[in-house]
Amino acid sequence: MLFTFKVVTGEKFQVIDVTESIQEVVWKSGVTHGMAIVFTPHTTTGLMINEYEPGLIEDIKTKMKELVPEGAGYAHDRIDSNAHSHIRASIFLNPEVIVPVDQGELQLGTWQRILLVELDGPRHRRVQVMVCPCPVYPEEE
Ligand code: ZN
Repeated sequence: MLFTFKVVTGEKFQVIDVTESIQEVVWKSGVTHGMAIVFTPHTTTGLMINEYEPGLIEDIKTKMKELVPEGAGYAHDRIDSNAHSHIRASIFLNPEVIVPVDQGELQLGTWQRILLVELDGPRHRRVQVMVCPCPVYPEEE
């Protein structure tokens, strides 16, 4: 089953920790062993898994802005004004992440969080989660 939840972003460039919402979907799905496929169906958002530490988030945003500045003569800006947002999404992020699930829990590392990155907000965004069961082999038990 495909679950969708909404995220209302409040800034032009924002990083939002969506880990708890995804863990809730995993619990709701009833899948105890498998994988969670998390997907954002937008061209100017992306997902990443990393530490949600304010200094680090600031560093990541600063570096993305430095490497892909706004309004640097992009062709897409002739029809829209957000080429930098699309380019940041495609170079630095993916629309999906996959996380293993065991005993109904996302198998993230201690400091890992699932982060939705808004690159052209504020907007109403969607995050889709599909939790897929996998067979358990005897040697895993
Ligand atoms: Zn555009």
